[in-house]
Amino acid sequence: MKIYDISMSIHSGMPVYKNSAEKIPVLKVTRDFTSGNVFESKITLDMHTGTHLDAPLHVIEDGKTVESIDLFKVITKCKVIDMTHIATKITRADLEPVNINSGDFVLFKTRNSYTDKFEDNFVYLDESGAQYLREKGIKGVGIDSLGIERNQPGHPTHKLLLGSDIVILEGLRLAEIDEGEYFLIAMPLKIDRAEACPVRAILLEELP
Ligand SMILES: [Zn+2]
Repeated sequence: MKIYDISMSIHSGMPVYKNSAEKIPVLKVTRDFTSGNVFESKITLDMHTGTHLDAPLHVIEDGKTVESIDLFKVITKCKVIDMTHIATKITRADLEPVNINSGDFVLFKTRNSYTDKFEDNFVYLDESGAQYLREKGIKGVGIDSLGIERNQPGHPTHKLLLGSDIVILEGLRLAEIDEGEYFLIAMPLKIDRAEACPVRAILLEELP
């Protein structure tokens, strides 16, 4: 069985949203072999670090949080859709020709997967595209940027999706992945009342 790792590595030099210093993870070694016989460390991590899942609370007051996500939504068949031809944003018109059905989990592979830096002009899913996916009744959507939207006042893409209990994955790495059907596993840690959480996202070539 082939496993594709579509997650970002977490380290102090990794890309973070808008390159803001406060979002850089801080790893600290708390015990090591110079003073004892074990190695231990801790990490301070923004919940939206690297490859991560957004839960409704991110944009909806009193919204659901990561520990209550239905695991069938993140252990599921999925479709990788090639959107590498898109320059700025994925719209309804871009999605209408694509085979997307109720219950699908779709992952958008864009030009974002070909850079390891955070770029202000990353490709995103615009409001019309989010509205279309909501009408289709998908269960989840992933993208290879650290945010699924930018420059949209009021964050309508997040609100449309999370308001319909559609799981959002951000920060995927899809450069090595061809368009097609896979099996996705992308589980958040069970952190109570968290609005988001990093995930280790993988794709399996064969459906179990
Ligand atoms: Zn996020």
